[in-house]
Amino acid sequence: MTAADRADTPTAPGSRPAEEPASGLAEGLAERLPRLGEIYRDLHRHPELAFQEHRTAGIAAAELRALGWETSEGVGGTGVVGVLRNGDGPVLLLRADMDGLPVREATGLPYASTATGRDADGEQVPLMHACGHDVHVTCLLGAAERLTAHRDAWRGTVLAVLQPAEECGEGAEAMIADGFAERFPRPDVCLGQHVGPFPAGTAFTRPGAIMATSDSYRVRLFGRGGHGSSPEHTVDPVVMAAAVVLRLQTVVSREVPAGQTAVVTVGSIHAGSKENIIADEAELKLNIRTVDEGVRERVLAAVHRIVEAEAAASGAPKAPEFTPISTLPLTVNEPEATERVLAGLRAALGDGQVFTLPAPFTGSEDFGVFGNALGVPSVFWHFGGTDPAAFAGHHPASVQTGGFPPDVPTNHSPQYAPVPEPTLDAGVRMLLAVTAQWLAP
Ligand code: ZN
Ligand code: ZN
Repeated sequence: MTAADRADTPTAPGSRPAEEPASGLAEGLAERLPRLGEIYRDLHRHPELAFQEHRTAGIAAAELRALGWETSEGVGGTGVVGVLRNGDGPVLLLRADMDGLPVREATGLPYASTATGRDADGEQVPLMHACGHDVHVTCLLGAAERLTAHRDAWRGTVLAVLQPAEECGEGAEAMIADGFAERFPRPDVCLGQHVGPFPAGTAFTRPGAIMATSDSYRVRLFGRGGHGSSPEHTVDPVVMAAAVVLRLQTVVSREVPAGQTAVVTVGSIHAGSKENIIADEAELKLNIRTVDEGVRERVLAAVHRIVEAEAAASGAPKAPEFTPISTLPLTVNEPEATERVLAGLRAALGDGQVFTLPAPFTGSEDFGVFGNALGVPSVFWHFGGTDPAAFAGHHPASVQTGGFPPDVPTNHSPQYAPVPEPTLDAGVRMLLAVTAQWLAP
């Protein structure tokens, strides 16, 4: 963030810019918002897990088809691609992800989800749109509708990409593997947006890295089971796992330079069934975030070294087993295209509502797969979906330093629910104003 950005006194968060975006693509949006609100509440009530987004995809495809877009379904499993050709001009890819999460919703909203489903392991789980992907789908459909209505105000081709399975990091890859490059026009730029726990009406991005690389592993630690009363005849995997978890905390604090970014989280630990039985093995699930390839290699090597050494220190009968769960690539914004996106965001939200991030977020995304695979620039930005009133006295730019109110629920929380307004209005306006940066005649 530049000094100028820091010095900005934000206008009332969520307030409209004084002028309409130059392109006028958003004209008439106000009358469409009640309908978009209905779509949003319906999607929110019916979340679906990764690669199971049949209902969501069906709704998106029906909307695009009704607007007259060339619509393809089942791309990479449950993906949908809509194409609207409108004369010569650049080709823009606008992406929204569709999947929900295995979270039991606790928002208490009248349109809260009570749905359940089966996860990839066959377990019955509660379902929730806890990451706001329902907002992304709704905003993209809203933008598609206005682009159709205002064909005279732009030139080129727009690809609306409704991507499955972002949460497991496999959906974008699946669409690419399903012949995306051959089946659809090659975009000049890929654009995506994500809602987050910031004041509705604000947006954040930066040139260069914006989201971290994510590496996840399942680790099995092998012990030797036996009676809880005679541990001397066993190798206790619970103690081994405890030592591993604590020692892993030293990777970031002792092995990564202070100015570099890395996160090591043990998100799951399982062993044993009863107090007087020493288990045979323990299972850990690890997640590692980095924004630099050199740091990434160093952290992954340290994690492997520590897990193996702690197992050896415990006298494990067998070396630990590492199974990769997922890898999400670094999300990188192409600088020149980012300048255009920033201009579009400012046109949509107002100058004081748009912030250049000083450092990448440590969250991860598979959005970058499209730009990487198609060999074209891409830009990703974040925007607020939380009632601006919750941020009274907090500068929106403080999100990077954790300076926002602790009671504001974050993505993946059972309490996380963007306020439909002004979030949907802002989300559609941003897509349209950024589109106009490339496609205005
Ligand atoms: Zn998420
Ligand atoms: Zn998400």
